[in-house]
Amino acid sequence: MKILVAVKRVIDYNVRVRVKGDQTGVETANVKMAINPFCEIAVEEAVRLQEAGKAKEIVAVSIGPSQCQEVLRTALAMGADRGLLYETDAELQPLAIARLLQHAIQKEQPTLVILGKQAIDGDNNQTGQMLAALLGWPQGTFASKLEFDGNQAIVTREIDGGLETVALDLPAVVTTDLRLNEPRYLKLPNIMKAKKKPLDVVPAASTGVELASALKVLRVTEPPRRSGGVKVASVQELVDKLRNEAKVLS
Ligand code: AMP
Repeated sequence: MKILVAVKRVIDYNVRVRVKGDQTGVETANVKMAINPFCEIAVEEAVRLQEAGKAKEIVAVSIGPSQCQEVLRTALAMGADRGLLYETDAELQPLAIARLLQHAIQKEQPTLVILGKQAIDGDNNQTGQMLAALLGWPQGTFASKLEFDGNQAIVTREIDGGLETVALDLPAVVTTDLRLNEPRYLKLPNIMKAKKKPLDVVPAASTGVELASALKVLRVTEPPRRSGGVKVASVQELVDKLRNEAKVLS
């Protein structure tokens, strides 16, 4: 089985995100970037399948500027075999990303595609679903467990109030939830080895894929500042404030 994994470069989750002054997006200049945590889980799952003898080859794909090669090298250091970057400086929306991934899938012919359930920057939670629709493949989203039975992927999904288990005929698209696995730490020798692994760079514009979007971001703003709390002298005063100021009690 060949696995294709989609990895996005996002602002590191430890960084406090700041909105740009002109409200066109968030500040990324001089900000620490990293592999999207859900994509890291996707790579880990693919590597575990390879280590268990269930996968032969893992191709990691990223879409974005030249610096995305860094997250592809992370995926290679974790154990992916090859990297593929569709290079573009344009801000692409999930449909364009899904179309480029479809382009990669037509070229690579994987049996399984693993994506993160969402990228922590845009919080779109759309790309995997759109990709499955474009391909006409079954999808198992928010996977917390992935097993195989013959030509089927058995995906346990985290849903409101419990777990749902679905069987997908392969080839299929799976998106990862937080509890699927705990990604490994990178070891220095593997980071060194990853530098020598093949990484192809293809200009996204050369693919002929429609990259334009029907969706325009109007503005990005900071959440409203939280106002300070007050100390009340008695339970009676608290109840009074809840009833008459916050109006959460009747
Ligand atoms: P989203 O729909 O934007 O929340 O992203 C869901 C998943 O789609 C991510 O976790 C990635 O696996 C994949 N994805 C989104 N954007 C990109 C990108 N620019 N390059 C590679 N994979 C991406």
